[in-house]
Amino acid sequence: MFPWLEALVNQYANQHQQHRLHHAHLLYGEQGTGKRALAQSLCEALLCEKSVNMQPCGHCKGCKLNQAGTHPDLMVISDEGSSIGVDAIRAIGDFIVHSAQQGGAKCVIVPNAQRMTVAASNALLKTLEEPNNACYIWLLAPSTANLPATILSRCAKQQVNVVVEPRVLGWLQEHAGEALKYEFSGMYQSQPLLLRHWQENDELEKIQALYQTVYNEQMNTDEQKLVDILTQNSQYIAIFRLFISQYLLHKSYQGLAFDALERCNAQLKQFSEHLVQTPGINMTLALSQLLRVLKQELA
Ligand SMILES: [Zn+2]
Repeated sequence: MFPWLEALVNQYANQHQQHRLHHAHLLYGEQGTGKRALAQSLCEALLCEKSVNMQPCGHCKGCKLNQAGTHPDLMVISDEGSSIGVDAIRAIGDFIVHSAQQGGAKCVIVPNAQRMTVAASNALLKTLEEPNNACYIWLLAPSTANLPATILSRCAKQQVNVVVEPRVLGWLQEHAGEALKYEFSGMYQSQPLLLRHWQENDELEKIQALYQTVYNEQMNTDEQKLVDILTQNSQYIAIFRLFISQYLLHKSYQGLAFDALERCNAQLKQFSEHLVQTPGINMTLALSQLLRVLKQELA
């Protein structure tokens, strides 16, 4: 298990040992903190015949089935589309009414639970209202913000966050050492799996290019190169926006006038909203406009 999650695993192990492990859980936290890996590991432990301290043994029949991704008593809801519909959630109800095929517990993971439609949330609520003793449901989400209060009130909520301490830095050195060489990595050390993901996918140079555009003071850049990057992946727009907000915050500490800051923020907001609401928008134009305003106000 990742070093920053060990304390949480112990916490769940204690609850389980004392027979007070909840049946519905929400793990929430930013991308790259290991929510999915944590839920998967806890489910594997619950389905393991010889688990110790909520850690799967890795050798029993249940563990072998999990390693093959074919355990009949673990259900992972697909979050590939932009929303999770009612049919996917109703399938959970069907899944848990039948007794476990391997005779133990049953586990369900719902990644990106914030993508549930209203109908899906209502269906889930019905399932949560009829608790089944041997069934554990793990909802995952970036925050509690976009989940209905009725769902939240029925879950044991746990934030998954990473405090950047020596053990985490050690892990980063080992698994994302290349990423740490880039200046922007400082902003993402609390999302270690995201840094590792960018490193493994050769995305570091692109993100550094976004960072440099903002931090080279001049906002002078090869705009076409920037447009090429921003149009590849919508996540890059969010990253670029974060870099700009952080930079504006930094400038405001240095004495940037409040009205100039407001104008920059308004332009940034307009830029991101346009991109989200108007697919196919002229990115080159939107970007030049944004950079022009920033350059003018920050000069
Ligand atoms: Zn096992």
